[in-house]
Amino acid sequence: MLVGLDIGATKILGVVTSAEGEVLASVRVPSPAGGDQVVTAAADVVERLRASARSGVGVVGVGIPGLVDTSRGTVRHAVNLGVADGYPFSERLGAATGARIVLDNDANAAALGAAALLGERDLGYLSLGTGLAAALVLDGRLRRGSGNAAGEIGHIPVDPAGPRCECGQVGCLETVASGSAVAALWPGNGQPAAQALFDAAAAGSADAAAVRDRFAARVADAVRLVALTVDPTVVVLGGGVAQVGERLRVAVAHALAEQAATSPFLRSLDLPGRLRLAPLDRPVAALGAALLGRAP
Ligand SMILES: [Zn+2]
Repeated sequence: MLVGLDIGATKILGVVTSAEGEVLASVRVPSPAGGDQVVTAAADVVERLRASARSGVGVVGVGIPGLVDTSRGTVRHAVNLGVADGYPFSERLGAATGARIVLDNDANAAALGAAALLGERDLGYLSLGTGLAAALVLDGRLRRGSGNAAGEIGHIPVDPAGPRCECGQVGCLETVASGSAVAALWPGNGQPAAQALFDAAAAGSADAAAVRDRFAARVADAVRLVALTVDPTVVVLGGGVAQVGERLRVAVAHALAEQAATSPFLRSLDLPGRLRLAPLDRPVAALGAALLGRAP
């Protein structure tokens, strides 16, 4: 059996799975703020999973937002969790649980989970959350990069006249293709912005439809970037924005087809036909975190 934890800004979701990736039990708790507090809450989730699985667990895979040093088990830029840069997350959680901890970025974990659930060995996973990042499973293996920065396409500048990005550059792709980008264009008034936007467009608002199509075209740019860089079998739309479901995939596939209208080269790649949606009804990131424990 494997244990995986998906640690997010609002919740910690833990699962026990079989070696084949079948979810046997799950536990969800709210995320506290601060490194020690997150470790304590995560250790409690592991303890409850062990009790429900009636098993000692030797390896715990963890997906966490931020830049993860997978060899040291430390995390940087996990600002939403209040975890200090360089916090020795794996060491502390290992001490609290007695388990070996395999720590990775949440998008990497979700990409592994999506690969398992979709039955693909080769994919690019677009995490459309507050920011934008891609994660790559190529020939069945995560491609993390030499500095764990592979897939950080949200910080590729695409518009010299665009807004300053919090990374310090100007006009990064994530300023136009992310959940924050949607929220800036279409406030959700309590609802998630992407949900409000797609609902308004479906209800007949011409303004909303125009904003939706412009946003979908920028997400299509991200898809094209991943596809032309590593040419994975499929590109998966995931993250909070993907909760709007099939409507997002349809809008982005439509934008990809429009971009290919004048290009026999792009048309030959059939990007609309290679676009997938992350399964909405399954714990993709927690399952992927569990699978981190068995990855080489
Ligand atoms: Zn940036």
